[in-house]
Amino acid sequence: MLTTDSLKPTLIDTHAHLDSSDYRADRAAVIARAFSESIGVVTVGVDLPTSEEAVCLANRHRTIWAAIGVHPHDAKTLDQEILSRLEALAKDPRVVAIGEIGLDYYRDLSPRGTQRSAFSEQIGLARELNLPIIVHNRESTKDLLSILRHHGSSYRGVIHSFLGDSALAEEFLSLGFHLGIGGPVTFNKNEILQETVRELPLDRILLETDCPYLTPVPHRGKRNEPVYLRYVAAKVAELKGIPVCEVEERTTRNAIHLFSLSS
Ligand SMILES: [Zn+2]
Repeated sequence: MLTTDSLKPTLIDTHAHLDSSDYRADRAAVIARAFSESIGVVTVGVDLPTSEEAVCLANRHRTIWAAIGVHPHDAKTLDQEILSRLEALAKDPRVVAIGEIGLDYYRDLSPRGTQRSAFSEQIGLARELNLPIIVHNRESTKDLLSILRHHGSSYRGVIHSFLGDSALAEEFLSLGFHLGIGGPVTFNKNEILQETVRELPLDRILLETDCPYLTPVPHRGKRNEPVYLRYVAAKVAELKGIPVCEVEERTTRNAIHLFSLSS
């Protein structure tokens, strides 16, 4: 029997792809595990169909919320029709953010100019709808910052899977962003990121898995899922020298506040 209390999350995975085909065989079990460990989830679309799927999942589960948007990889699919369908979809009360949107010059799966205009269009959409944004950035920091600065100086949103140093963290914090910290913080080779997390103000950190990708140690190499967020929380607590319950409480509060979450 569910009680109101059991719906109160102790951790929120602010970036998951629960629609992924990697969960085709056992999606219900993955969701049930997250629920039984009181982990809320923001499931994130990367194009129109996955955004619609995210909204369906969020409507079926009180501790799942949806973000909708077109990923830079899929930027070439964004036209006026898709944009107006996203706008209509965003009216669903379970939609809490526009994302993931941004730039990816590492894989270059859409032409860079197309990525830049899709990013700009969706920043505009989020502004119009008064929703926060979830931003993907890979080897595209210079253009990303210039687009963000062009559109404004104070944002509600998160830089997803932040991997940079303290100077870059400071640039995003000064624009109002939170930083999404996930599995990579548990990898030994990421000393610069670990150093950044040590110094980051706890009230600007969101925890995320990016599941099924970026699995934290000790499950690295296997499929990721929301319950593994515990390893990320533990690593952040270790780096900051504070109790893990403090990391859980504060980052959960950050997520609830940024995305205006209610069940
Ligand atoms: Zn993602």
